[in-house]
Amino acid sequence: MRANEFRAWFFSGRDGEAAAVVMRVDGERVVVEATDGTVRESEPLTTVMMSEPFDHAPRLITLRSGGTLEVEEEGGRLARALARAGVAVSPVVQLRRWWPAVLVALAGLIALVSLAYLKGLPLAAHWVADRLPAGIEGRLGDQMLVALDRHYLGPSQFDAEWRERLARRFADAATKAAPGVPYRLEFRATSEESINAFALPGGVVIVLDGLVRFAGDEAAVLGVLGHELGHVAYRHSTRQVLQSVGVGMLAGMLWGDFSGTAASVPLVLGVLKYSRGFEREADDFAIAFLRANEISIEPFYDVLVRLVEREERRGIATLPDFISTHPSLAERIEHVFKALDE
Ligand SMILES: [Zn+2]
Repeated sequence: MRANEFRAWFFSGRDGEAAAVVMRVDGERVVVEATDGTVRESEPLTTVMMSEPFDHAPRLITLRSGGTLEVEEEGGRLARALARAGVAVSPVVQLRRWWPAVLVALAGLIALVSLAYLKGLPLAAHWVADRLPAGIEGRLGDQMLVALDRHYLGPSQFDAEWRERLARRFADAATKAAPGVPYRLEFRATSEESINAFALPGGVVIVLDGLVRFAGDEAAVLGVLGHELGHVAYRHSTRQVLQSVGVGMLAGMLWGDFSGTAASVPLVLGVLKYSRGFEREADDFAIAFLRANEISIEPFYDVLVRLVEREERRGIATLPDFISTHPSLAERIEHVFKALDE
């Protein structure tokens, strides 16, 4: 084979047969010769269409006659022959060969995928949560509560009278500060006296005995409940579930035997570890909630400070939501402190 000759397959376009031929770049023409040397086609290079060169794929050259040639690149030998004949390389191909451009394109792609994941998923979850039928949301929360009740939570040790009084106080405050936010307050306890409160999809707000004892002050408990009501108002739990479990898992939680296994508990608690943004929104909600009811923010602030001190003493917090380590408590304290200052 001479430098300008290439073995190729020729498809005439009239039948499905592929014929072994020799393609020659002859001056400014493409010449196709059968193996016996007879010329089958001859066309100016300017009228043929060529696929872009790729390292590991043959080049397709479409002739005006309708025939197509499949030619191996042969490590760039074809590209060199075409270049000698004056065939210009397309700007896209030139760009692709320039490695900084490849890096930029790759970085752009990674950024786009990350953005879609980081921003797109929460956005989609928000959109879906706002349109989810209340029945589905309620069922989701109830199923999660069933799972927690079976394997993690126990009944509250506080007497019914006390619970009713707090529930009424909270209901009055909620009516004043956030009318129309549907919630259901549930009192529970854990054997290890967990200091926590959390909101489940559909508006279930759970407050644990441990938190009430730790808070000590009713205003502080109301601040925490206001924070949880914020999670309800913004549908944080539903959004969190939507963006952290797959569709299959979601279906399992809604209609499967989700609550049957103890493994459902870490899943529920894991899902309730909110982002910084969610916690800040809930804290702002709590502040507005307390202000609307002319309750001092100080006891709520004090609870946050004491939680940090306790967390520092004990190491990693093992509980979700309220003392979640995820959005740094120190940052939240600073935020609430600013409100305290105003
Ligand atoms: Zn929270």
